[in-house]
This record gives sequence, C-alpha cells and structure tokens, in this order.
Amino acid sequence: MTAVCPGPCNNAWRNAEAAGQPHDIPATWGQPIHCLRCANRAHSQLAELPELVVAIGLEAVHGTAPRSSGTIGRTATPCWPGQASRLLTDHIVEGLLGLEDAIPAVRRLPGRAARGREGADVTASVTFLRAHLGWALDRYPGETDSISGETMDPAALIRRWHRTAERFTRRDPRLEHHRVPCPRCDMLTLFRADDDDYIGCRNLACEVLLAPSEFEEHTQRLARKYDLAKAA
Ligand SMILES: [Zn+2]
Ligand SMILES: [Zn+2]
Repeated sequence: MTAVCPGPCNNAWRNAEAAGQPHDIPATWGQPIHCLRCANRAHSQLAELPELVVAIGLEAVHGTAPRSSGTIGRTATPCWPGQASRLLTDHIVEGLLGLEDAIPAVRRLPGRAARGREGADVTASVTFLRAHLGWALDRYPGETDSISGETMDPAALIRRWHRTAERFTRRDPRLEHHRVPCPRCDMLTLFRADDDDYIGCRNLACEVLLAPSEFEEHTQRLARKYDLAKAA
C-alpha cells in the first residue's frame, strides 16, 4: 500500500489540504512510504552526520557561533563556553543511539554492545543505521511499533539533526529570496527553500504558493510592465 510521502516534498500539498480549499497541487507518493527523493536525502544526510558532529565540537573551540539576535530564545544563552555545542552533540548522539536501539528490538537482532567513547558511538551508530535505513524507511512511519506502541519517522529525525547541525555550524543553505513582489500581497516575501518545489510567500496573511511555471509567468509579466513604463 502506498501512502503520501511524509517528507518536505509534500509541504505545499499538506498546506493546501489543511486550508480546505480546492487546489491542484499534486501529492508525491511514497515508494512505499517515502518518495525516492526524500529517501535518498535521508541516506545522504545520515552519511554527513559524523562530520557535522565533529564540526559542532570545533565550534566550541573556535567559538564562531554568533550570539542569537532577537529576544525570543534568550533563555538558551550558554552558561559556559562550549555548552551549546555540548548540548547539541549530546542531543544528536542520544538520538542516533535511540534510533539504533529501536531497530534490533523490532528486527530481533542482538542489541547494541556497550561502547562509550563518543567518536566510536557515532561511527558505529551511523554505520549500523546506514545498513538498516532502507528497511526503516520502508516501514516507518507507516505502522505502529508493536513493542513501544510508537511510530517513528527516521527520515524526519535525521532531517532535524542534520538541519540543526548545519544551522549551528552555519553551513545551512539559505532560503532563496526572490526579489520580486508577491503577486497576491505585493510584499517582497517570496522565498524558495532548497527542498521545496514551490515558491511560497512568507507573509502570514498571504502564504500564496506558486509552481515554478507560475512564478516564471509572474516575473515575465512584471518585466513587461517595467519595460512599458520605461518606454512611456
Ligand atoms: Zn518525499
Ligand atoms: Zn504574498
């Protein structure tokens, strides 16, 4: 049985469904759960995690992480140098080990041997998960885990760790900002995210979504208007 892919490929479709209005945004179907693109992304993001964990540690040494601006989230001000990178490393390593432990339980494999050194933990965990990720992606979050009663989405977990690590080390691909006004609200709030197949308006009162072809038409229309104004 195939399902709608739970990944970011369907963000626009889910928004449109939630709005309850008729729309013609197509859903991306899973094969059988995640679509090929989201599954491939999970594999490559998992493979990149060990290096990112090292880079998080280096942030503590070189201290290049900027002070967060704005007032929201001020409570997370680090109490001692390197604390933020320590907390994030712990969060990712614990998450990896948790995901690793969940798999042998269901597959009836022997449990993880005690390790202990962080580098060894990360390497062994990622090696194990890379071998079993295909299996996990074909299964979750499709059904309820018979043992824990929970469903997990390994792709979503990996995506979250990867994104947090990239933001922390400031390697995240910036959202592409389109410097043309939105066709609906006229604000300069059109963005396209790396994974998104649509261009979206970030104005909360608008949130229009445009397919690349619609966006192309819109920019051409604007260019024609501009040319006419210049000629006049
Ligand atoms: Zn997908
Ligand atoms: Zn708009």
